[in-house]
Amino acid sequence: MRTPIIAGNWKMNKTIEETKEFIAALKDFSLENVDAVLCVPYTSLGILREQLNNKIKIGSQNIHWEENGAFTGEISPLMLKELGVEYAIIGHSERREMFGETDETVNRRVHAAFKHGITPIVCVGEKLEEREAGKTKDVVKEQTEKAIANLSSEQVKKLVVAYEPIWAIGTGKTSSAEDANEVIGYIRKVIANQYDSQVANEVRIQYGGSVKPENIRSFLSQPEIDGALVGGASLKPESFMALVEGA
Ligand code: PGA
Repeated sequence: MRTPIIAGNWKMNKTIEETKEFIAALKDFSLENVDAVLCVPYTSLGILREQLNNKIKIGSQNIHWEENGAFTGEISPLMLKELGVEYAIIGHSERREMFGETDETVNRRVHAAFKHGITPIVCVGEKLEEREAGKTKDVVKEQTEKAIANLSSEQVKKLVVAYEPIWAIGTGKTSSAEDANEVIGYIRKVIANQYDSQVANEVRIQYGGSVKPENIRSFLSQPEIDGALVGGASLKPESFMALVEGA
C-alpha cells in the first residue's frame, strides 16, 4: 500500500507576508493516510519552518548537487536541510525548458538529495508535439531512466515521481484520468525493468497538470496514481486543504 502524497508547488509566488497569511488561514485539517507537502520559494522556507503545523512537510523547488562553491544563484542541500526541507522538486518542466535543466543534471540533483536525506520529487512529462507524434512513452521512459540512473534499490523505493504532461500545466487542460493512469503504469514498468517489480511497486507516482479540488478524486481513484503535484490550486489555503482532504 502506497500512501498518497499531495504536493503544492508555489513556483515563484508569495512573499514572506503572503506566506504568513496562507499559514494563518490553514485550519486544523485531517491528514490521515495522506502525506502533504508545500514546495515554496526559498525565501518562504524559514517562515514555514517556524509557523507551519508540522504535519505538513516542507519542500523546495530545486536542489544543487554540490554542498557549496561557485554556483551563483543555486541552493545547497545543506542549506535546505538546515531549513527543515524534506522534499525537493527536481527537473520540473519549467526548469528544463527555461533554465537548461537536463536529464544529467536531474540525476546529479537526485543523488545529492538522497545523500542528504531529502526525498526527490522527480518530474517527467511530454510536450504537446511529442504527445501528438505518439512519443509520450518514449519521452517519459528516457527521462525516468536517466533521472534514476545508479540509485540503489532502497533509494528508488523512497522516490516520488511526478508525471506532468507539459501541455496540461497551468492551462486548465488535464490529461484524462485513464490516460494519466496508463502513462503512470508505464513509468512503473520502466522502473521495474531497471530495478525489479517489488521496487517499482513502492515508488509513489503523482499526476500533475491543472489538478483542482474538483478533479483530484478522479485521478486518485485510478490504481496507479498515488497523488498529485499541484501548482495554481495550491496557492489558496482553502483549495490546498480541499486537495489534501480529497486524497
Ligand atoms: P498547475 O501546475 O497545477 O498549475 O497546472 C502543476 C505544476 O507545474 O507542478
